[in-house]
Amino acid sequence: MSRSAHPAGPRHADVLPEGHYAAPAEDLNALDPKVWAHTVGRDADGVVTVGGIAVTQLAEEYGTPAYVLDEADFRDRARAWRTAFGNDADVFYAGKAFLSRAVVRWLHEEGLNLDVCSGGELATALSAGMPAERIAFHGNNKSPEEIERAVRAGVGRIVLDSFQEIVRVAHIAQTLGKRQRVQIRITVGVEAHTHEFIATAHEDQKFGIPLAGGQAAEAVRRALQLDGLEVIGIHSHIGSQIFDMSGFEVAAHRVVGLLKDIRDEHGVELPEIDLGGGLGIAYTSDDDPREPHEIAKALTEIVTRECESARLRTPRISVEPGRAIVGPTAFTLYEVGTVKPLDGLRTYVSVDGGMSDNIRTALYDAEYSVALASRTSDAEPMLVRVVGKHCESGDIVVKDAFLPGDLAPGDLIAVPATGAYCRSMASNYNHVLRPPVVAVRDGEARVIVRRETEEDLLRLDVG
Ligand SMILES: *Cc1c(COP(=O)(O)O)cnc(C)c1O
Repeated sequence: MSRSAHPAGPRHADVLPEGHYAAPAEDLNALDPKVWAHTVGRDADGVVTVGGIAVTQLAEEYGTPAYVLDEADFRDRARAWRTAFGNDADVFYAGKAFLSRAVVRWLHEEGLNLDVCSGGELATALSAGMPAERIAFHGNNKSPEEIERAVRAGVGRIVLDSFQEIVRVAHIAQTLGKRQRVQIRITVGVEAHTHEFIATAHEDQKFGIPLAGGQAAEAVRRALQLDGLEVIGIHSHIGSQIFDMSGFEVAAHRVVGLLKDIRDEHGVELPEIDLGGGLGIAYTSDDDPREPHEIAKALTEIVTRECESARLRTPRISVEPGRAIVGPTAFTLYEVGTVKPLDGLRTYVSVDGGMSDNIRTALYDAEYSVALASRTSDAEPMLVRVVGKHCESGDIVVKDAFLPGDLAPGDLIAVPATGAYCRSMASNYNHVLRPPVVAVRDGEARVIVRRETEEDLLRLDVG
């Protein structure tokens, strides 16, 4: 991430003189458990395996590129969040990170709730049997049709994002003869990314209603007057890929401050607060994310302390991790097509996918790691940039990494931690077909989202 506080190491080629890149200290064949899914390892031949299956076999059966998702790991992480927060809090998985019907069923079975932010995500959730009362509907511009579907379905909460939406949802609910449970999303003037947070004027964004200037209090005032709405709480989401808990500390302090004002003005203590998601994962060995139980403990303590000093009953907390659950559970498997050394610079390794299956590097300057997956090698490390096959020079998957110097076309390489915001943000740029998601568990693999075909593409093109 561009604002991360990583020390300049050998990964950061830009700060090193050309041609003098330090070789990496770590063994290139090693797979750091921090960035790989739990069941990933190498077999006796050195081939990377996941859920007991070799990637060479997966490539043969399902082709490349493919997202390979470790189902046991997904369930473990979902359960760890659920267990960490216990029965006094709710965990909503943020569906936008990656949603499919299999994922919805796993979440349901593991006792999690689900955030959706569009009619499409709502349809996916309902079609896979997630009970509507366990669904929260988010977004800054839900259409009247989407709102009506959500209210009719009986979603557990709608998170209101503007004054207009307060009236819109109230009207739709009332027309349907219902009283919709809602939270009001506010912006608390905190923005957090990775290792830093900023507590200044970050209300300058499209989401939420600013606490500043009394706007959030006014939103609550209006919502409380509308018969179609049951205001159950306040919602705050401060950023993404966060490691530093102090942003949540400030956010909780300000949200509780609003709850206190509401109590003083209206005589009601709202029963819930939602602190959003955004918890960070390890994309490279430099990242040190916290465990769910540490996060749960920290958040619970912060809210309890703030409520005690405001003499409020402690509300029920909810959190919305997306990346922290699904991110580490998948890797992208690519086949190397070309290896192009540029003298004195680096070697460009082209793979059979690229920015259409992982836009994060181009969009956010995200960092990833990469490993040779179809074999091990003792060759000297070489500095590489892993690039895709698209007609765009910014089509980079891994900006700076080391791979063995004997890397050749036909080798399989794997990029870990691509479970979140990769398939869900995938595009058809250059009419490249979106890869499948293959779930593996206990020696068995199955496709949970199939590979797109040219037929799929042409079916939409009705001209
Ligand atoms: C994106 C988002 C999340 C999930 O963020 P992660 O970084 O994936 O944990 C949770 N809540 C809201 C409101 C969001 O917009």
